[in-house]
Amino acid sequence: MPTLNEPVTERRRITRNSIYRYLYQAQTPRTKQDIAQALAFSLPTVHQNLSELLAAGLVERGALQRSTGGRRATGMAIAANARFAVGVSVTQERFRFLAANLRMEEIAYRSEETGLPPHTADAAALGVRLAAALEHFLTDFGLNRNKLLGVGIALPAILDAQGQTILFSPTMALNHCRTADLTQALPYPAHLANDATAGGYAEWLTQGSGSSLAYLSLENGVGGAVLLGGAPYHGLNGRSGEFGHICIVPGGLPCPCGKRGCLEAYCSAARISSDLGLTVEDFFEALARTPAQYQPLWEDYLQHLAIGIHNIRMILDCDIVLGGFLTQYLAPYMPHLQALVAAQSPFQENAGYLRLGQYPKRAIPLGVALHFINDFIQKL
Ligand SMILES: [Zn+2]
Repeated sequence: MPTLNEPVTERRRITRNSIYRYLYQAQTPRTKQDIAQALAFSLPTVHQNLSELLAAGLVERGALQRSTGGRRATGMAIAANARFAVGVSVTQERFRFLAANLRMEEIAYRSEETGLPPHTADAAALGVRLAAALEHFLTDFGLNRNKLLGVGIALPAILDAQGQTILFSPTMALNHCRTADLTQALPYPAHLANDATAGGYAEWLTQGSGSSLAYLSLENGVGGAVLLGGAPYHGLNGRSGEFGHICIVPGGLPCPCGKRGCLEAYCSAARISSDLGLTVEDFFEALARTPAQYQPLWEDYLQHLAIGIHNIRMILDCDIVLGGFLTQYLAPYMPHLQALVAAQSPFQENAGYLRLGQYPKRAIPLGVALHFINDFIQKL
C-alpha cells in the first residue's frame, strides 16, 4: 500500500494536513483554486501536496457538483476507504465488532457470543478469544488488514488515566488487571476505553467535535461521558461522567454498586425488563397495550431520569445526549421527559438541550473505533 513520503518537516506536514482536513470538512470535491483560496496557499504548494496525497491513495478525483457549462469538471475529495478502524464492544456475553472508514461510516458489523463462562476473570483468555474472533471478522468481510489503523476495545470498566490498568469492572470480574493482558494477542495497535466514554465520543465527534456535551447512557448499567470545550474530560481517576451513581433518592432503592438511591437503581434498563421477566421491547409493547398496569412504573422511571438529567444540566450547563440501547424506544416519550426536566429548572428553560443520540445501538463500538480515525486525521 502506498504511503506518504516520510519524513517531511513539521511545517510541510502541517501544510499537507491542513489541505487534507479542508477536503475532509468540505464533504464534496473541491478544486485546487478552492483550496488555495480558502487556505491562502499558492497554487504550486496546493498542487504538490495534492500530488503526494493522490499518490498515497488518500485523496481521489471526484465530480464537482456545480455546473461549468461544458465538460464535467472534477475536483479533489478524500478517499473515504483509504483506511479503516475497528471498534469492539466487549461484555461478558458478546463481542460487537464494527469497522468504520475515514468518513466514520460503518463498513462492517457483527455481534457474536464470546463463548466464555460467566465471570471469567482471565483477561488473557478473553484477549485470545477476541483476537481470534477479530481475524474471522476481518476475513469474512474482506477487510484489508494493511489499511487497518487500529482496534479500539470498549469495556464496561473504569480504567486508569493512562489506560494501562482495568481498575474496576464488576460485570466482567476483571478488576486490577493490566490492559496489556487483554491486548497482547492482537497484532494491531489497540486502544481501550470505558464503554460509555466511547459512546459519548461517537456522538460528540459526529456532531462537530468543537462542541460540549454530556452523554447519559441508558443500558443495564447507567453511565456517561463528559466532553467539554472540544475535548473529552476524563477526571483525575478516569471516573468523570459516572452519572449512574449520582444519588437522586437518599436511602432509596439498592444499586449494584452497593449504595442506595443511585440514578442507576431507578433508570437501569433492567428495571423495566429483566427485573419484570420481560425484554425492553416487551415492556414498551406491554406499556402501549395495557397502560394501566405499566404506566405507573414508567412514569416513576421518567421522573427519576428527569431528576438525573436536571442535575447534570445544573452542573455542566451543556447539551445532554441520551444514548444506550434503551433510547431506541424513547422518541415518543421525549416531549413528556423534556417537560419533566424543564419543571425542575429554576431558570425557565424548555429542555431543548436534551436530545436522543444518533447511534442508539452502535455508538460504543463506533466511538472506540473513531479514536483511531480522529488520530489519523489529526496527525497525517
Ligand atoms: Zn450506584
